[in-house]
Amino acid sequence: MTSPASPSGTVFLVGAGPGDPDLLTLRAARLIMNAKLIVHDGLVDPAVLALARTGTRFVSVAKSRSRHTMPQDEINALLVSEALAGNDVVRLKGGDPFVFGRGGEEAEACRAAGVKVEVVPGISAALGAAAAAQIPLTHRDHSSIVSFVAGQCKGLAEQDWSGLAGKGRTLVIYMGVATSEAIAEKLIADGLAPDVPVAVVENATRSDMRVLRSPLAGLPELVSSERVRSPALIIIGAVAAEPEQELRRLALEVLQ
Ligand code: SAH
Repeated sequence: MTSPASPSGTVFLVGAGPGDPDLLTLRAARLIMNAKLIVHDGLVDPAVLALARTGTRFVSVAKSRSRHTMPQDEINALLVSEALAGNDVVRLKGGDPFVFGRGGEEAEACRAAGVKVEVVPGISAALGAAAAAQIPLTHRDHSSIVSFVAGQCKGLAEQDWSGLAGKGRTLVIYMGVATSEAIAEKLIADGLAPDVPVAVVENATRSDMRVLRSPLAGLPELVSSERVRSPALIIIGAVAAEPEQELRRLALEVLQ
């Protein structure tokens, strides 16, 4: 119950971007710097949290050690109860809150409870990784369609990805490290050439970023031999080719 004497707070669903704090929107940075309460995921970079002022209360909903995450219902209930108690809540999420971020569920829970909610977009990992690795997601010569998919979802084999990868298209896979073998098999079974270029961008925009490349058929081997760890994105399509490789291909085309 709210009364005019204790109006409920607002829940701000804020995108924290892929890591580098310089990639925050000004609105996100202002909200973080003025926050009294920040509820954040494990993916939010410590450098972003460090922008908060002293005395800010932090609640992490991811216990990174045990890889255990607070159940979504509990997160929703926490946001709602804090707001109904009159507190503004900055709910910080890696990347963008509405791209594989469950922001939709949190916004629904707030609206259902009559809590005001505002969404502040962030640079999603696909855009941050593409920029940092200098892989254009679209390119007039190579790709005019780009799709984002989740690689770690129930029933991966049943997901219909047909038409998302191949000539003229770029496929970006979030949360695909653990399932890279099934992903490569699935795409090849769908008719994608085993030698289509793949780039894996790990820890994009952070100081320990790695960009690794392989043909699609070699993706599982690359992930295991290089010990790729989350967070990492898999980018599939001609745009992911090694720049030198691409120049060679263009030179051959000119000669033919
Ligand atoms: N809302 C987030 C995505 C959350 S899902 C966004 O818009 O980016 C989590 C997945 O995002 C990770 O498994 C990984 O695939 C990707 N990801 C997030 N941050 C990343 C980073 N810095 N580098 C590479 N991938 C990242």
